[in-house]
Amino acid sequence: PPRVRFAPSPTGYLHLGGLRTALYNYLFSKSCKGAFILRIEDTDQTRKVEGSVDALVKDLKWAGIEYDEGPKKNGKYGPYIQSERLDIYRDHIDKLLKNGSAYKCFCTERRLNILRRDALKTQRIPKYDNRCRSLTDEEIKEKMKSGVPYCVRFKLTSDCQAYEDLIFGGIAYDVSLNEGDPVLMKSDGFPTYHFANVVDDHLMAVTHVLRGVEWQISTTKHLLIYRAFGWTPPQFGHLPLIVNADGTKLSKRQSDVKVEDYKDKGIFPLALVNYITLSGGGFDHVPGAGVRLKTMEELAEEFKIDKVSSHPSRLNADLLEECNRLEIKRRLQDSALSQQLITQLQKLINEKYPQKEKQISEEHITSVLNWSTARVSRIEDLVSIKYGFLWVLPSTTKNIDKDLLNKLVGHLEQLNSFEQSSVKECLRSFASSSDVKFPDLMKMLRSVLSGLNEGPSVAEMMDLLGKNQSLQRIKAVIR
Ligand code: GLU
Repeated sequence: PPRVRFAPSPTGYLHLGGLRTALYNYLFSKSCKGAFILRIEDTDQTRKVEGSVDALVKDLKWAGIEYDEGPKKNGKYGPYIQSERLDIYRDHIDKLLKNGSAYKCFCTERRLNILRRDALKTQRIPKYDNRCRSLTDEEIKEKMKSGVPYCVRFKLTSDCQAYEDLIFGGIAYDVSLNEGDPVLMKSDGFPTYHFANVVDDHLMAVTHVLRGVEWQISTTKHLLIYRAFGWTPPQFGHLPLIVNADGTKLSKRQSDVKVEDYKDKGIFPLALVNYITLSGGGFDHVPGAGVRLKTMEELAEEFKIDKVSSHPSRLNADLLEECNRLEIKRRLQDSALSQQLITQLQKLINEKYPQKEKQISEEHITSVLNWSTARVSRIEDLVSIKYGFLWVLPSTTKNIDKDLLNKLVGHLEQLNSFEQSSVKECLRSFASSSDVKFPDLMKMLRSVLSGLNEGPSVAEMMDLLGKNQSLQRIKAVIR
């Protein structure tokens, strides 16, 4: 069965692109009963950010993505953190040095800088000139003896390694045209990304590599390394860029790229996950089906790698809101999940409205939640000023005609059914039988009930607040 991996570098937070890579690897593995591995690529110790592995695992878990093998989990291919595998890389570097596909390079940083500068001056691509390839055994021995620091480089060849990308189709690229021999192991004994990545994918028996398209030009280089070891490479598939709605590149500073921000802003995990798959593909297209949320199990079951789109995936804020709205609806149909929504909303109300008098019974909250799916896409929206009247008494009311309202109370009290339609009917007939214009009555009532100038219709508000609460609010101003 297939084995795939998500191999992030612990350099900060999980962003949307990372989540997409993890998700597609996860779905692919589940769709064919394979294994999903989490591997931490922390060989660049300078970019490492403390605590980011825990944050990453937490974000993945939030999204519903559990790994089968990885840090803090058993698995026979561990350890799954690259900085704990340095011996393995050292052994493997020796293999390449022995079979002549790699060599020690003693060039100083200073020399490399000069090469770079000269290239830029004459507008050539700056690349290492592979000078140390031709050192004699004698020269190498000499330098080793005097303790000159060295790195290990890979001998690039120009026989381009064409391959069939699972998502992009045929790719052919001669790396040696644009690069000098790449470093496999740095002078401090740490491997580079390219080397550790290839060694680990092989040793961890990875069968399919799904990763961001920014790695696509590295793949032919990786294939040369596989060949140098005599290993069969995995299959590769690259996921297209995620871009802004207008097609421009995302910047890391944009707040919406952090997965944690989506979470903090009230986006539910299944909504985010569906949003990603709706934008990125991976499923049979059902024409005219509209947006429908799939559970993680359905996604895994229906996922097809050959349906993943190779076009840049555009952010679409409306689609995300729609997914979240659908997720709230779905949760309301499940008793345990709807209980969670109720608790979440109660907590938000308590935080936002410190006043003592509050309407937060489960019954009231449930009816508001059911009503809200047509209006809001986030639970947080329900505690905004616009909807504050649902929970607390309005602070100010203006232009009140006490006598009129007093009479109205009598009419409303008679109502047996206190629903939007019956309330509306009652208000209309009351207005026509008194000498108040219907719109003026509505304005007054709106102010009494919500303290606002706009919002849902008055009858709708009364329906939501219920008979008791509506009457109480009117009585409170005529007293
Ligand atoms: N460590 C690389 C990253 O941070 C992994 C690339 C790959 O999947 O090969 O994206």
